[in-house]
Amino acid sequence: MIPVKGFKGQRVAVLGLGRSGLATARALAAGGAEPLLWDDSPESRAKAEAQGFALTDLTRNTAFEGVAALITSPGIPHLYPAPHPIIARALDLGVPVDNDIGLFFQSWSGPEWDDFETTPKVVAVTGSNGKSTTTALIHHILTHAGKPAQMAGNIGRGVLDLDPAGDGAVVVLELSSYQTDLARALTPDVAVFTNLSPDHLDRHGGRGGYFAAKRRLFAEGGPDRAVIGVDEAEGRYLADQIGQGPADDRVIRVSSGQKLEGPGWSVFARKGFLAEWRRGRQIASIDLRGIDGLPGAHNHQNACAAYAATRALGLAPRLIEAALRSFAGLPHRSQLVAERGGVRFVNDSKATNVDSAAKALQAFPKIRWIAGGMGKDGGIGALAPFLPSVVKAYLIGHSAREFALQLGATPHEISETMAVAVARAAAEAQPGEVVLLAPAAASFDQYPDFEKRGAHFIELVEALPS
Ligand code: ADP
Repeated sequence: MIPVKGFKGQRVAVLGLGRSGLATARALAAGGAEPLLWDDSPESRAKAEAQGFALTDLTRNTAFEGVAALITSPGIPHLYPAPHPIIARALDLGVPVDNDIGLFFQSWSGPEWDDFETTPKVVAVTGSNGKSTTTALIHHILTHAGKPAQMAGNIGRGVLDLDPAGDGAVVVLELSSYQTDLARALTPDVAVFTNLSPDHLDRHGGRGGYFAAKRRLFAEGGPDRAVIGVDEAEGRYLADQIGQGPADDRVIRVSSGQKLEGPGWSVFARKGFLAEWRRGRQIASIDLRGIDGLPGAHNHQNACAAYAATRALGLAPRLIEAALRSFAGLPHRSQLVAERGGVRFVNDSKATNVDSAAKALQAFPKIRWIAGGMGKDGGIGALAPFLPSVVKAYLIGHSAREFALQLGATPHEISETMAVAVARAAAEAQPGEVVLLAPAAASFDQYPDFEKRGAHFIELVEALPS
């Protein structure tokens, strides 16, 4: 745990008692503060009480008397579409509002660092897609290289649950736009921006607000190095703003598809090869095509970002290459589950929308595609350009019939359930083909969440007769 500094003997309100809220409460108490805990949900309050925490009703008018700060959870709106009433009250009273990420950056370093040989570092990853994969990949590379690395934020532990830094430690944080928007302190040593596509716009007052939230990670006096995906206008703008000209290698530009051979520092992937360029010269090249844990151009983008971040930390290209090869992928994101008789089975249950399903469909040449569930507005119309790689679709769940209509001439059948879809696809698949679960739909018509859906797919694949 990282005890929170700066609030000794003071009261600090904590709104939201999920995993990060309770970790915050413990870390505040360890730092000598008095946490006042509240959550709108009676179940969450009961859970906190069961763990020995006392509650304070923050909805009461007098609740903020003598309170030094309000710490909130990322799921609670602080501005758009409207501030939560308790946050609105704190803002009215001028009580500073922060989150666990801000407390972490405020509390992470200590006097013991003076005796370290290598100062601990923080790498923070934000962006619309690929955050978890990139974060896990950076952590994997560091661990592979023998560095003491920990992973937290949206992935793994709550930040304040991390172990205090030892000599040479590196922490890799996955940060959502909600987290970067609110944190009062945000001082990573290396900051990574993967890409930008419209998401959660209601919480940020539109695309500009969403970009502004992510951009805070790169604010002035920010990271020593910024790894920035430049395939969208926002990334190009950010890279331009941070750099003092195209040759400034404080910025490492990353692209999936574009050749970036300018005078600065860049890492890009084209046709399955990763290339690193610096000052107009190629430094390294890696063939990513045979790496099972990183299929498709989207994962090559993640590989470039992770490569750049670990290069920024001083690792050598060959060491990073070896680590990339041993990355197994994250569960439910292009996860290779099994290979039987030349047929690969891949679980991308996290592809809950058309955008991420499109990436999965581009990652493999001949696909037996299991899709469906609770479709989003517009169905799968936008996937038409990617259908030529689909040998046949096996449709499940609520939207199966709607998806069938949109598939046109692409061979398909209504399988209804995952069990039928897996059995049928496995029976019909030919060597060299991939049976891919990439639903392009939410799971809740048939499963509690995308993890359970992916787990069921894996269970069915493992039970197939060999
Ligand atoms: P995040 O943490 O940002 O949600 P994940 O790594 O969990 O990202 O991936 C979420 C979904 O997006 C998965 O379906 C995955 O296959 C797809 N995906 C992964 N990386 C990228 C990328 N760089 N660009 C677009 N889609 C991606």
